[in-house]
Amino acid sequence: MKPISLAKIDENGGLFSYASWLGKHPSVLDNFEEVMKVAEGKEIVVFLDYDGTLSPIVDDPDKAYMSDAMRAAVREVAYCFPTAIVSGRRKDKVYEFVKLRNVYYAGSHGMDISTPLGSSKYEDQKHQIKCVDEKGNHVVHFHPAKEFLPTIQEIIKVLKENTRRIKGSMIEDNMFCVTVHYRCVKNEEDVSVLREMVESIMKPHPNFHISSGRKVMEIRPKVNWDKGRALMYLLDTLGFDNFNNVFPLYLGDDRTDEDAFKVIRDIGHGFPIVVSSIAKETEASFSLRDPSDVLAFLLRLTKWKKNLLHKTK
Ligand SMILES: [Mg+2]
Repeated sequence: MKPISLAKIDENGGLFSYASWLGKHPSVLDNFEEVMKVAEGKEIVVFLDYDGTLSPIVDDPDKAYMSDAMRAAVREVAYCFPTAIVSGRRKDKVYEFVKLRNVYYAGSHGMDISTPLGSSKYEDQKHQIKCVDEKGNHVVHFHPAKEFLPTIQEIIKVLKENTRRIKGSMIEDNMFCVTVHYRCVKNEEDVSVLREMVESIMKPHPNFHISSGRKVMEIRPKVNWDKGRALMYLLDTLGFDNFNNVFPLYLGDDRTDEDAFKVIRDIGHGFPIVVSSIAKETEASFSLRDPSDVLAFLLRLTKWKKNLLHKTK
């Protein structure tokens, strides 16, 4: 049996343990057969965050590799259901890590999406660009924060110059957003200095906001777009514009994934699944403890689909 984390302080200042939190956000793995009954006959679409969900969180973000077993599991899931990876990283970087051709990719917190058809609901030509890729396939790139690109590059330059003296800090260019990593900043005082520095650099840019993640600060343009809207856009481009029969599963570990969890709650069916080994505030209905639980869940999901197909033959 896995160890239970120490008690945490909840939002009301009371103590509650991981075990009692699990009561509210049960493990989708431990209750698999029971909870998946509601998804039978529905069109499942799988959404996966990358860091902390498919890969472990590591000190060097450039080395957040996923295991071969995880890659094989995602590949199998993607053969059974439309599958998309939604990450805060730049899209090409996520592809470098995942290396699967049978999944859709949404990078930069959903501000960089490529799909074969695009969406009729987002006819705005300013943000949807039709292209033909190197293989001759038609692709529609969706870039709702395109106008911010030059400013983002400027911000990255200034951030890099100024944060150089904070040992262990790292600025990651995620194309339509920027991540300031401080997992490797050992000195707590330096973390505060870094925070203040980033805040002061961003002061002249009121059309950007800063949010916090797991030992990171995320700088994103203020556009009406997030991982939740990316989920809607992807469902629409994949032909699930009628939400009656669609059943999205979204697995993610970060604050930015909460927007997608909320959207699934609004749709009224599907499972928002948080990946967390500690009790925390979340919109998710279910949980998985860590990437190894995610792997077990994905394997189970493929098996479940194959059994269903077998039953209906
Ligand atoms: Mg994550």
